[in-house]
Amino acid sequence: MFARHFIDSLDFARNGLELRGEAAIAEMPRLQDALAAPEGRVSYVLRGLPGRNGKSLLELTLDGGCQLRCQRCLQGLPYPIKTISRLMPVPEIELEGFLPESGEMDEEDGIDCIPADVHMDVLNLIEEEILLGLPLAPMHEVGACHAATESTSRDEKNPFAILHGLKNE
Ligand SMILES: [Zn+2]
Repeated sequence: MFARHFIDSLDFARNGLELRGEAAIAEMPRLQDALAAPEGRVSYVLRGLPGRNGKSLLELTLDGGCQLRCQRCLQGLPYPIKTISRLMPVPEIELEGFLPESGEMDEEDGIDCIPADVHMDVLNLIEEEILLGLPLAPMHEVGACHAATESTSRDEKNPFAILHGLKNE
């Protein structure tokens, strides 16, 4: 549906390149389990930036939305995707060297190290960043669930709802 881009991540970062586009949520297989429907899209800007100590970074800005599945009523829950991620592509050889402390080292900057890849799948990166940002148990606001609006079916199914009803009488 949309063009699938591959970049040389280290080269892209070092040269301050920029890529803009749109991706369909339906094309992100690992995301599907969390969704009520494979709808939505996300626009992205991927840029190369200079970082500290002569290192180069990738900055990925996402703006879009998808329909998560509410963990209470299993219906669709609109979820806005608005993130800016900074990633440092590190050649695999260097990555092995400081892997045990890499998390600590860059945590204060909010920069994650990723293995440098001469053929990095941009869509895969976008999906990864969306997955990292997802809430563990997405739910509608209390009382806003679809089941809650159908009070009769809720009371039949949910013993706690019945208890709650008894308390209020
Ligand atoms: Zn709900």
